[in-house]
Amino acid sequence: MVSRVIPVEPFDLVIFGGTGDLARRKILPALFRRFCSGQMGEESRIIGAARSDHTAGEFRQMVSEAIEEFNTTTQCEGGTLDAFLERIDYVHVDARGEEGWQTLSDMMIPGRVRAFYFSVAPSLFGDLAERLHAHGMADSDSRIVVEKPFGRDLETARALNETLARHFDESQIYRIDHYLGKETVQNLMAVRFGNMLFEPLWNSQYVDHIQITVAETVGVGGRGEYYDRSGAMRDMVQNHLMQLLCLIAMEPPAKFDPDAVRDEKLKVIRALDPVETGNIVRGQYGPERKGGPDYLDDVENPRATSESFIAMRTTISNWRWAGTPFYLRTGKKLKARASEIAVIFKETPHSIFGPEAGRHRNILTIRLQPNEGMDLDVTIKEPGPGGMRLVDVPLDMTFAEALGPDGEDVPDAYERLIMDVIRGNQTLFMRGDEVEAAWAWTDPIIEGWESRGDRPVTYEPGSSGPEDALALVHRDGRRWREIRA
Ligand code: NAD
Repeated sequence: MVSRVIPVEPFDLVIFGGTGDLARRKILPALFRRFCSGQMGEESRIIGAARSDHTAGEFRQMVSEAIEEFNTTTQCEGGTLDAFLERIDYVHVDARGEEGWQTLSDMMIPGRVRAFYFSVAPSLFGDLAERLHAHGMADSDSRIVVEKPFGRDLETARALNETLARHFDESQIYRIDHYLGKETVQNLMAVRFGNMLFEPLWNSQYVDHIQITVAETVGVGGRGEYYDRSGAMRDMVQNHLMQLLCLIAMEPPAKFDPDAVRDEKLKVIRALDPVETGNIVRGQYGPERKGGPDYLDDVENPRATSESFIAMRTTISNWRWAGTPFYLRTGKKLKARASEIAVIFKETPHSIFGPEAGRHRNILTIRLQPNEGMDLDVTIKEPGPGGMRLVDVPLDMTFAEALGPDGEDVPDAYERLIMDVIRGNQTLFMRGDEVEAAWAWTDPIIEGWESRGDRPVTYEPGSSGPEDALALVHRDGRRWREIRA
């Protein structure tokens, strides 16, 4: 199956923080891949803008090294690396000063699609918006792309929304959550709303429960200080896991259009029940068996109460989902790097095969990583003689296999999302009210921990998380799915 590449119109993309980690690891390699595919044409330009003083030549060298290190594409039909580098320029800009702004403004081509990627610390977002406006760059041709974290609670998120809204209309603001750019996540919508098969069963009458797992094997790495201020709840649950939950639980939008989709997601967040204390388990990883740093060492704070693991049971109070538990968990230093959503259907109301056939049920698994894809466990007869024994087998749809050789080159989330910004399609970006609603749900939970002085429990690195997290599901007579790559 050959994927069609539809070139986008010529654009200018200014990356504030163009010399930073995110730009080097994700944004620039993503743009190179889109250039290679022919989607980004020769006329488009990428302008790095950051505080450090570099010539355009030095910045191109930096981009070239980043692509060397982080790019994964093997084919480049759209041109060469040199041709890509020719599209790149650099301006030395201080978000908090006047330096560089006039130069940047003079570089803009009127009437051309213009995107400003805010790949800098969130504390600079307001300054950037202000100066873009002051230098005449916040006009109707402009869009801004804002990275996470979007606030650290409702109050700060609201203040940030208000700051950006002073100079940009909501239709110009692209709040990025790269989970939404994943092929599988969008396929979730295609599977749900493009097939007759699932939607009639997609409710509490047929679904027993849903599990969402985002597991990492790494610890907090060099991000200790940031992580200690956020913890898994702010860093992962409030954004990524809640977005996945919304896509799984939302009603069919009337059309696949940005506001129709985001209206439905917002309704899910607003229907989420508050989570009681007993339905949440927080953890911090301990030291490896052979020794070494634990979570407290990694965040360099012996009294840290932030969590590197969280598991929770939540429910949605609406007609479709009343009574169906949604179990969410995410953590660092777990046994495998694996992210998936599993929809566990109920057992048949009666087994005609008798008790010896065992208990079986269908499970639809949507894998985000590794091997993006889906499988559906279907119960069939175990082959061979020996009576009617039943067995569950997966109908596997790994995208890389199903889509043929081109499927291996499925664009990564950043590629897709940046091209959506250029096309002006906000469907896969979070709207301001969605982000605020998500904080309004998480804030009381976090405030509860803080006011009670709750401390996370310790779990063993390489495990599935704390024992208490297992108990959270066991006590409902259910089990977590195995975390495996
Ligand atoms: P970084 O510290 O590596 O880079 C920061 C960039 O901002 C540098 O290019 C620096 O020159 C520039 N900068 C700093 N102060 C400036 C100023 N006053 N004026 C102009 N430029 C200035 O940070 P990063 O890891 O690339 O993260 C950037 C943003 O993306 C942050 O908001 C971060 O939370 C978010 N983010 C990063 C990652 C990641 O994997 N690195 C993932 C998700 C979100």
